[in-house]
Amino acid sequence: MQKILVIEDETSVRENIIELLFAEEFEVICAENGRQGVRRATAEVPDLIICDVMMPELDGFGVLTELRQNPATSRIPFIFLTAKADRADWRQGMELGADDYLTKPFTREELLGAIAARYQKQLALQQERDRELQQLEQKYRHRLQTDSLTTLPTRLMLPSLLEQATAKITASEPIVPLICLGLDRFSRINDNLGNDFGDRLLVAVAQRLNASVRMGCATIRLDSDRFAIITPPSPSRTQAARTTETILTSLRLPFRLEDQEIFITASFGIALYPQDGRHIEQLIQNATKALNVVKVQGGDDYQFYLAARHGYSENDLALENQLRYALERQQLQLYYQPQYHLQTGEITGAEALLRWRLDDGSFIPPAKFIPLAETSGLIVPIGEWVLQTACQEAKIWQKAGFPNLRVAVNISARQLERPDWRSSLVKILTNEDFPPQLLELELTESILLRDTEAAIKALQALKALSVRIAIDDFGTGYSGLSYLQRFPFDKLKIDRSFILNLHQDSTKSNLTQAIIEMARYLHLKVVAEGVESAEEMAWLQERYCDEIQGYFFSHPLPLEQFLKFLDPRNRGSMNALG
Ligand code: C2E
Ligand code: CA
Ligand code: CA
Repeated sequence: MQKILVIEDETSVRENIIELLFAEEFEVICAENGRQGVRRATAEVPDLIICDVMMPELDGFGVLTELRQNPATSRIPFIFLTAKADRADWRQGMELGADDYLTKPFTREELLGAIAARYQKQLALQQERDRELQQLEQKYRHRLQTDSLTTLPTRLMLPSLLEQATAKITASEPIVPLICLGLDRFSRINDNLGNDFGDRLLVAVAQRLNASVRMGCATIRLDSDRFAIITPPSPSRTQAARTTETILTSLRLPFRLEDQEIFITASFGIALYPQDGRHIEQLIQNATKALNVVKVQGGDDYQFYLAARHGYSENDLALENQLRYALERQQLQLYYQPQYHLQTGEITGAEALLRWRLDDGSFIPPAKFIPLAETSGLIVPIGEWVLQTACQEAKIWQKAGFPNLRVAVNISARQLERPDWRSSLVKILTNEDFPPQLLELELTESILLRDTEAAIKALQALKALSVRIAIDDFGTGYSGLSYLQRFPFDKLKIDRSFILNLHQDSTKSNLTQAIIEMARYLHLKVVAEGVESAEEMAWLQERYCDEIQGYFFSHPLPLEQFLKFLDPRNRGSMNALG
């Protein structure tokens, strides 16, 4: 219990309380009337509120009623102050959901006692919630950690498997190789022989991998046709190369399925702990880079990650130079992809997606230039432009008769790290006179992994502005769901890799169902991204997913077209959704 809001119209009483609390090293903020109190509580979300009952205009009951209705403030412990011990007042306060009552004049001990009691109660509630969540996670643990198709561990197991391996490092065996492999041209098998056949082949591949790796290796299914192998500590890269060659050779042998002989090959990328990364995300990322080089060269081979080889290319440098001028030359533009509520059938808002169009009319995809903008630091001015433009353009649709539509903006880790980022956000909101509750910031998990405590603080400071926060691409990272409850998220966006054909894929549907159920427990709204078909939508609707976003409903659209799309008269073809 650190920050306490005191709402009291009588100056002497207010100052008395403030002094008392200061002496106890609480952070104290105050308000001189009920209206101001509600505003401060909503803006700063204190840990506790002490509020007078009798105040002109909005009295204490009014304050409590308003705060209890707003999800951001509904759970803040609330202590009433009253001049007389009036039973009717007391009953009304308690019925509205006050936590305690103090009668003026009260002693220092009474005040501190009431605060301490609230603190204990909050702590107990938090522990209770932690326990319930653990039980829920226990229930899903097996599903989340074991791939239902191949029975291999899933990517959620990567951090602990890496830890187990690195714990065994010795002076003579100082490295842990991580091998990523992807089957070559696997989608052709699915397309030509059907998904069932593809699934059976994946099971056979998983078995062969397990049979061909050396003792003590862990095999993990990353996603559809990609696997990772963490080997025990090695003396040198030679041993990693040998292990990889063994697997590579074993996969070349034909697979016999339904009396057919199938030949497949795979591409391998290897990253070494610690020199290629100490964190699992970094190792997987680097091994994948090496794997992708092999794929481009035709597959059926392996490569080690080498920072120099996979670093900046000439092309990247040229592109980065062009990106420097993109803002000035007005080559950047925002497209909007609507989000659709599955139960109410309404459009709730849109995600702003950045587009870079060169003067010759060609588009560079964000997947290519956003990483460049991040490594070069250009993401900071570009991100600021995105935020400002999104607010300006969202005001256009709000004025066009859709005053409650939210706009969601992607924020990269590099932006959030900047100490002045929050103040530039405040400036934009003020200058554009934009209602903060209609702005949603989309953050990815990677932002939160490194320094959790600092990240929680930064997000709480954002929440205090009343902006909404969504966790993006959920499911692609390595953290479990219980981790989420420590962060003040409003929304969870399930990554589109889980949604594609999930109605035909038990691994994806199991995971998605677990994510939806746990998100509901944490009071998070759930959005499914990348919904491309009626079947996917129907599956999600049956499981009470809140919202969808994807090509099935609409592609991202330039502002003009998005405004047209909002008009129900232009959406005849979407009847299937209504
Ligand atoms: P994201 O935030 O996950 O955005 C969703 C991406 O999925 C978009 O790609 C969108 O066009 C695409 N998408 C939407 N529906 C479907 C579907 O049904 N099927 C498929 N296959 N794809 C769908 P886009 O616009 O190419 O953006 C790629 C990524 O670039 C974004 O992924 C985001 O991480 C980043 N990005 C885009 N704009 C910004 C921005 O303004 N700032 C920052 N920091 N990153 C941005
Ligand atoms: Ca996003
Ligand atoms: Ca996403």
